Amino acid sequence: MRLLVAGGAGYIGSVVTAALLADGHEVTVLDDLSTGHADAVPSGASLAAVSLHDSAPVLADVRPEAVLHFAARSLVGASQQQPEDYWHTNVGGSLALLEAMRAAGCRRIVFSSTAATYGEPDQVPIREDAPTRPTNTYGATKLAVDHMLTSYAVAYGFAAVSLRYFNVAGAAYGLGERHATETHLIPIALQVAAGQRESLTVYGDDYPTPDGTCIRDYVHVEDLADAHLLALPAPSEGEHRIYNLGNGRGFSVQEVVDAVREVTGHELPVVVGDRRPGDPAQLVASSDRIREDLGWAPKHTDLAGIVRDAWELKDRSAPHHS
Ligand code: UDP
Repeated sequence: MRLLVAGGAGYIGSVVTAALLADGHEVTVLDDLSTGHADAVPSGASLAAVSLHDSAPVLADVRPEAVLHFAARSLVGASQQQPEDYWHTNVGGSLALLEAMRAAGCRRIVFSSTAATYGEPDQVPIREDAPTRPTNTYGATKLAVDHMLTSYAVAYGFAAVSLRYFNVAGAAYGLGERHATETHLIPIALQVAAGQRESLTVYGDDYPTPDGTCIRDYVHVEDLADAHLLALPAPSEGEHRIYNLGNGRGFSVQEVVDAVREVTGHELPVVVGDRRPGDPAQLVASSDRIREDLGWAPKHTDLAGIVRDAWELKDRSAPHHS
């Protein structure tokens, strides 16, 4: 298919672009490079370096058959401090993109949503019919776009899928995480192992979990990419589907620390700090729906394997990550 990938210069968008190219698709990446990197765009794709707000001429020119939309601000803390940036980019930008699609006669979209749309869960694993009560602006903006897609499916016959990612990690196709501001556990722990930070602060060890640290569902970015390929043709016109994407089991922060120590051979000094505001004790996905509907099954469920893939890439490209 002829595809447009919004946000294809970022971590997940670039990996999915590589997977789409490997699957024989033709890809144009649209990315304003505000947080992404031009050199992360796989060489088989072309790059239009514009924002979502200016996407209409690109859509009119490319005439894609479908769009995959990864372009967003994604830091929970920043979303609380500068909410206007999050509403403008994530919601305003997505609205501009959907209007550009409509004008170009394109009505098929896969959207990067998030577990943050659920907020604090009543029960785990979290299913797609769980209540959506985001506890931060980031989650609220992603949920707003999910609602937007439902409206566009009903009113304009869009065929849409929202994929609600849990904790994406690992590396694939030689592409991994390199955020200017790193907040995520695995990349921070690997920075410590690489000597780029003194220690890892564990945000609280008094949670009601077996070892007292928070439990999250880490899913390998390559498995996530597979899910996008399966989701792309799935919905019919007028349908908006929502699927959770997780590993199916949770790992505690302590288990991540142990895995990083095992993989890197580094002692990994740890300091126990305060809880981070808004962190639920446990976030684990039920991915039964996408398994049953689309036959998706994660292949890289071993935590040490996920950490190893991220570490090996970091090893090769360390200067980029400092
Ligand atoms: N975490 C931590 N220290 C850090 C970063 C994260 O203890 O420096 C914990 C955090 O409290 C959460 C888990 O690691 O329980 C995963 O956090 P991350 O920011 O990677 O993803 P989130 O679950 O917030 O999307």
